[in-house]
Amino acid sequence: MKYALVTGGSRGIGRAVCVRLAEMGYFVLINYLSNEEEANNTLNLVRGKGSDGMLMRFDVADCAQVESTLGNWQTENPGQYIEVLINNAGIRKDTLLMWMENHHWNEVLNTNLNGFFFVTRMLLKDMLVKKYGRIVNVVSLSGLKGLPGQVNYSAAKAGIIGATKALAQEIGKKRVTVNAVAPGFIKTDMTRDLDENELKGLIPLNRFGLPEEVADAVCFLASEKASYITGEVISVNGGLYT
Ligand code: NAP
Repeated sequence: MKYALVTGGSRGIGRAVCVRLAEMGYFVLINYLSNEEEANNTLNLVRGKGSDGMLMRFDVADCAQVESTLGNWQTENPGQYIEVLINNAGIRKDTLLMWMENHHWNEVLNTNLNGFFFVTRMLLKDMLVKKYGRIVNVVSLSGLKGLPGQVNYSAAKAGIIGATKALAQEIGKKRVTVNAVAPGFIKTDMTRDLDENELKGLIPLNRFGLPEEVADAVCFLASEKASYITGEVISVNGGLYT
């Protein structure tokens, strides 16, 4: 059995990635923060593809929770390792910088950027020892271009992009790749408060994207077929470039 972990797999892009990984034959570890009902719905979709999975509840921003949950899994599954890691869990707390409070900054940086660090560090050693691994980080157009009202989120996503490029150089010799996918506007709970009709005029393909359209790019990078791509950022944004 080959194992993949998707952080934030209970909803949106993470769910679509879990389903695609199930189609690729992976046993999918579905991480979530609190929404157990939606996480179970993802698990049912994974099973509907003829594969299997399990729920893994932890807060990616909490180093102790990450280490105890993943450490327990490693102890209970000797000889097995998680060969695909999708760092997808993310939140936004938009406000202009002059109104931004410490908690807006800290929550967004802790979940998006620290979460990437805590989870990746836990799983990296096994990938290096086994000399095979795929890490895909879900970042954002906001981290490439910067978006007003999202100084915290742009900083977090740009941080992961820099980390992706640096880590790729550290681990390439061990046949472990690390890449990023930068979505534009995608129809999920995260963008529910945005008006697609108003914003679609900015997008050459004239619509918001679907989670499945992001998942296809993520799962290509997570596949063996992407063996000569590392340190790369692929945009999935309908042509909405800087
Ligand atoms: P979403 O629908 O809001 O789902 C967020 C997911 O992250 C949920 O599964 C949630 O779990 C989980 N999560 C949040 N905080 C967590 C934490 N501290 N620990 C563990 N899990 C946590 O978001 P989405 O739109 O699918 O976004 C997925 C990723 O794509 C994010 O990194 C986001 O920044 C990025 N992105 C999205 C868009 C877009 O337009 N939607 C654009 C660019 C980038 P619960 O269900 O338990 O709350």
